[in-house]
Amino acid sequence: MNQEFLQNLKNQAISTIIETKSEDELEQLRIEYLGRNGKITQLIKDIPTLSEEKRKIMGGLINENKKIIEDALVSQKNNLQRQSGNQEKDWFDFTVPGIKPKIGNLHLISLTIKEISEIFARIGFNKVSYPEIEWDWYSFEGLNMPQNHPARDEWETFFIENLSHPKYGNAVLTPHTSSGQLREMEKVKKTLSTDRQVPIRMLNIGKCYRRQIDASHAPMFYQFEGLVIDRDINITHLKGTLDYFVKQYFGLKRETRIRPFHFQFTEPSFEIDVTCIVCGGKGCSVCKEGWMELGGAGMVHPNVLENGGIDSLKYRGFAFGWGVERLLMMKYKIDDIRLLFNNDLRFLKQF
Ligand SMILES: [Zn+2]
Repeated sequence: MNQEFLQNLKNQAISTIIETKSEDELEQLRIEYLGRNGKITQLIKDIPTLSEEKRKIMGGLINENKKIIEDALVSQKNNLQRQSGNQEKDWFDFTVPGIKPKIGNLHLISLTIKEISEIFARIGFNKVSYPEIEWDWYSFEGLNMPQNHPARDEWETFFIENLSHPKYGNAVLTPHTSSGQLREMEKVKKTLSTDRQVPIRMLNIGKCYRRQIDASHAPMFYQFEGLVIDRDINITHLKGTLDYFVKQYFGLKRETRIRPFHFQFTEPSFEIDVTCIVCGGKGCSVCKEGWMELGGAGMVHPNVLENGGIDSLKYRGFAFGWGVERLLMMKYKIDDIRLLFNNDLRFLKQF
């Protein structure tokens, strides 16, 4: 045993170690060199047989080379494990749950329209929709608002230039769903015999347009309009219908009240209030006195019935028209209508 022999043994060990392809092969080499009867182990065992002088030199060198071989074994083991780890990435595990594709959801306004429609369908209302570009007659004049009547100012209407009808006047973007009232009366009259023109139970949901924009108004918004015409219809039917709706939509604890108001196309006219969703009617900073305004309603004006071709001496009706956005903003406590139209998914995904 001499230094050169030791040097060669170490070099041989290292070169075979870095050639190994598996941990089993590596283990075989470990046994070959460092095992109980391994080549290095054997050298260590022989140390006591050496002369004292040689023992000092060779003892240190053998341990040094043993350490180098051990390090090479560990390093190669890490390499082999890293390589097999990379291979595992390509392996397909059928048991791992898949990545679900993102599924869209309906916009809160669409969901609310669906909910409103279902609530009214349960008490026999028939859902319809009428033109968004409408004649003056259906939007105003036929609803008892003659040309130049000051009440028209409240509607902030968009007029369409150079488009008019000889009988029905200028074209407008529907400022309210009330324009569906006369449309419905005419449609029912056309499709049924005169005797069966009523009853009407209409729910008209559609887009409306007005020149307005702030936290609670958008230039385009949705309204839903209810119209009921039959014999012996009175205010209690209106109140009962609105009570039913409010309890279905907001919850059974909500109360409604009707408050005298004025609209041209209903007589008498009311504003409908609902108990505050925040305080439940006790009074708080949001509602002041416990009530929140929902929208307008009233008994259909006899002139409107006549304009729709219905005998106002035989029949009566009630109507109500509310904003879809206003309703859902009250329910979900949304304080700015523009959130509904900004298409920010962080907001829209919450519903
Ligand atoms: Zn309140």
